[in-house]
Amino acid sequence: MNNIIIIGAGASGMMAAIWAKKFNPNCKITIFDKNKSFGRKLSITGKGRCNVTNACKVEDLIINTPRNGKFLYSAFNSFSSEDVMGFFERNNVPLKIERGNRVFPTSDKASDIVRTLERLTKNSADFICSRVDKIIVKNNHAIGVTSNGKDFFADAVILSAGGKSYPGTGSNGDSYFLAKSIGHTIIPLEASLVGLESNESFIKSLAGLSLINIGFKLFDSKNKLCFSDMGEMLFTHKGISGPLVLSASAFIKDGLKYFCEIDLKPALDETKLDKRIQRDFSKLLNKNFSNSLTDLLPQALIPVIINQVGIPYDKKVNSITKQERQRLVYTLKHFKVNITQKRPISEAIITRGGISTKEIDPKTMLSRVVKNLYITGEAIDVDAFTGGFNLQIAFSTGYLAGKSAALSNSII
Ligand SMILES: Cc1cc2nc3c(=O)[nH]c(=O)nc-3n(C[C@H](O)[C@H](O)[C@H](O)COP(=O)(O)OP(=O)(O)OC[C@H]3O[C@@H](n4cnc5c(N)ncnc54)[C@H](O)[C@@H]3O)c2cc1C
Repeated sequence: MNNIIIIGAGASGMMAAIWAKKFNPNCKITIFDKNKSFGRKLSITGKGRCNVTNACKVEDLIINTPRNGKFLYSAFNSFSSEDVMGFFERNNVPLKIERGNRVFPTSDKASDIVRTLERLTKNSADFICSRVDKIIVKNNHAIGVTSNGKDFFADAVILSAGGKSYPGTGSNGDSYFLAKSIGHTIIPLEASLVGLESNESFIKSLAGLSLINIGFKLFDSKNKLCFSDMGEMLFTHKGISGPLVLSASAFIKDGLKYFCEIDLKPALDETKLDKRIQRDFSKLLNKNFSNSLTDLLPQALIPVIINQVGIPYDKKVNSITKQERQRLVYTLKHFKVNITQKRPISEAIITRGGISTKEIDPKTMLSRVVKNLYITGEAIDVDAFTGGFNLQIAFSTGYLAGKSAALSNSII
């Protein structure tokens, strides 16, 4: 192709522009974005640190992409996490690998990633700051786009307009309406990697409380275990959030009911925890029960746990029965929080659903519905866990679409 239009200067669109130019230096590339600045969502990733990828094998990238991971086999093999790391390091962004193989710029600055991609994109493509309103299709071929009332023609169009979460970044779901209007199927959209709401009466009193080193299990209404891990979480005004909760949310289906159990003392089994409590109690025999838990729990959690255990606040420690103590142990190991629903998609890290993978050729990212149209990134019905996997999807699909479009000889 000699003339390529890319819709969206985000993670996948910029990667597509850079590699299209590398594979075919003679092609003319124009990239559109409704924002003046490139990679606005990218700049807030990883809490401003940008978890660019996960240093793992292709098989693990696929395992960590629960939604249509196998569709990405060719894309991940064409541009693996090793390739992503090599790409940034070659372009003077040193990287470091942290817990769970998460890869970040050594500087801890997402802006270093954005600036590098922006510089390379500007060297490869012309930029037009304008919203694309329509993909022009003639004889079932994408031949250009309409933006601000003007038509722009091309030999190929790459749709890289992102998902629907964090709409303030520009990714407000345009991908779906643009694709749907030319015949693509959109799998219903849901939030993923998002906070969870709870109707428990104690939630507000815990807002702001962070818990570290806890066990977290998510169950559905039939008590089936959906997710289990250890790590961190926090309470919010409406429910729960934090790393464990975001990961668990990937297993939640809209419309179904769930609950979670928090193990507040995962390092101790019930016997050891009971012994530990007996030791604590032996030093506080004449104190009220409510004053006996300060070494065991954060202050805000004490009244909540006392209510759940059902031991009176003012009962003296020396008169607490073995059964009551065992109820306390059980509650500390199985602190239950009812989940009503996910927070809205606008607050989600990632959009689940999107353009059907059945309608995209996984070897090229070429649409099977409209010729000369390529599709990348979060717009596609794929989504992964936290850990750098979602940006890897954007980079791999962007690379593959850019390369395929640049090397394609398909003409109308
Ligand atoms: C808060 C937050 C933190 C995250 N942190 C991480 C992380 O650390 N690691 C990770 O792997 N993933 C992370 N993600 C997910 C990751 O950012 C996305 O998966 C990735 O950016 C998707 O890339 P994309 O190219 O598909 O879309 P985007 O990066 O969203 O880019 C789409 C671009 O298209 C433009 N656009 C949209 N519609 C139009 C239109 N009609 N015309 C012109 N331009 C248009 C938008 O303005 C935008 O610039 C995070 C997401 C969020 C919200």
